[in-house]
Amino acid sequence: MENELYDSILIGAGLTGLTIAHYLRKSGLRVLLLEKNSVPGGVIQSHAENEFIYESGPNTGVISSVELVRLFHELRLSFEVPQQFANARWIWRKNRWEPMPSGLISAVTTPLFTLKDKFRILGEPFRAKGTNPDETLSELVIRRMGKSFLEYAIDPFISGIYAGDPSQLVTRYAMPKLYALEQNYGSFIKGSIAKARIPKTAEEKLVTKQVFSVNGGLSVLTDALVHSVGSEAIWCNCSNPTVSPGADDSYVVEVERKSEEATTGSLLKLRSRSVITTVGGPLLPAILPFLSPAEAEPFTTLRYAKVVQVAAGYTDWKGIPIKAFGGLVPTVEQKDILGILFPSALFENRAPEKGALLSVFMGGIKRPELYEYSDAQLKEIAVSHINEMMQTGQQPDLLRIFRYPYAIPQYDAGSGKRLHTIKELQFRYPGLMLAGNIRDGIGMSDRVKQGAVIAGEVIEYLNIKKFM
Ligand SMILES: Cc1cc2nc3c(=O)[nH]c(=O)nc-3n(C[C@H](O)[C@H](O)[C@H](O)COP(=O)(O)OP(=O)(O)OC[C@H]3O[C@@H](n4cnc5c(N)ncnc54)[C@H](O)[C@@H]3O)c2cc1C
Repeated sequence: MENELYDSILIGAGLTGLTIAHYLRKSGLRVLLLEKNSVPGGVIQSHAENEFIYESGPNTGVISSVELVRLFHELRLSFEVPQQFANARWIWRKNRWEPMPSGLISAVTTPLFTLKDKFRILGEPFRAKGTNPDETLSELVIRRMGKSFLEYAIDPFISGIYAGDPSQLVTRYAMPKLYALEQNYGSFIKGSIAKARIPKTAEEKLVTKQVFSVNGGLSVLTDALVHSVGSEAIWCNCSNPTVSPGADDSYVVEVERKSEEATTGSLLKLRSRSVITTVGGPLLPAILPFLSPAEAEPFTTLRYAKVVQVAAGYTDWKGIPIKAFGGLVPTVEQKDILGILFPSALFENRAPEKGALLSVFMGGIKRPELYEYSDAQLKEIAVSHINEMMQTGQQPDLLRIFRYPYAIPQYDAGSGKRLHTIKELQFRYPGLMLAGNIRDGIGMSDRVKQGAVIAGEVIEYLNIKKFM
């Protein structure tokens, strides 16, 4: 409470904040999470309604870090991994779905790429590596694989992950593993083969790169974290937190906390030995008012893709058999959607037995105006695209629309300056940590990895301070 000195105050109780808090609490530290919304979990929210379980935020993650595997183990949770179709991805081309090639042979036989680019792909291992560290993804892909590969593989893939534009994203920030493959091995193909041969520890073998959810939806993960942290350490309905460096190397956090019944909040003044922010870049300067305009600029200029997600449920599906993870739409095909995911094809109990649950994505960095469309317009776009692409004339039995003004950060050319500023601020203000998707990746696995690493750094800092 007010006169208590916390070890750590975290701002934001999404996956990042909850993961950090889980590790800090495990070390016996006094932790408080301040959350703006009425519930924790951030963008991860699962909903159960009329025999459907749907997500309003992320639908799936990838088991791509040991930290994620460890966290699931500690929380006694199991990954729900699809038994089939997880590797089948469809790409929309000339009014039909084409399977996305999954290996060299299918890359050579697919109609998605031109003959010239198929030869280029075969020659990829022999091409010289790039020398521009700030090369964009499209420059890199055109240089190594060709334009049709950019248009029908990378562009839809980037829509699916970043809702972004490959000509804006800088490879070493947006796809650091891909960048490292070329830099370390000279080629994506040679690098993938060499990496597969590196012996793995038993724990590393559990990092299967498989797609995952959790039985019952991804909120089961954030609920388990809430349980581990303790709900008394998570204050929801907290608005306008501000942080200022105080005396004795501590921080003062002022925040307005609204109780469930009250319409206005009471202003609280809290003290903590460390403060960790997990919110998006543009929201940071209001929380850290002591930043100079030059220090605030790399955060305010971090662009986020605006995304609309529409969950569409069908009790008795009459469209084409759904045997894939999802379908993505290349920009050159000029449709109003980024793609459709098929959660009920992958996971148990997402729709009634003969039904289907689809998730349609729209907007993104290339079509931000769609975010402003009315619900009726968005519904029209979602249903007409499902009808055309999935060959059905049905109306969905369930349709829910979710809008995200700050869905996915775009790691573009401004990233170097932002990362440098984060380092400088953390050095100048010991005990202040700037976490969240302003750095270290956008996926759930990245968020958990960052959470575990930052918790370790904070624990080390607080332990050192104890003996000073
Ligand atoms: C639509 C969508 C689809 C996605 N799809 C995928 C996917 O398929 N796979 C995948 O791996 N990842 C996906 N992601 C990304 C993934 O969901 C996120 O990386 C992760 O959940 C973010 O967690 P976080 O805690 O960093 O941020 P958030 O979940 O955004 O949490 C930040 C929290 O801070 C709170 N907050 C903000 N401002 C304040 C304030 N001033 N005071 C107090 N609290 C504040 C917010 O309310 C929020 O609860 C998707 C994201 C979105 C939006």
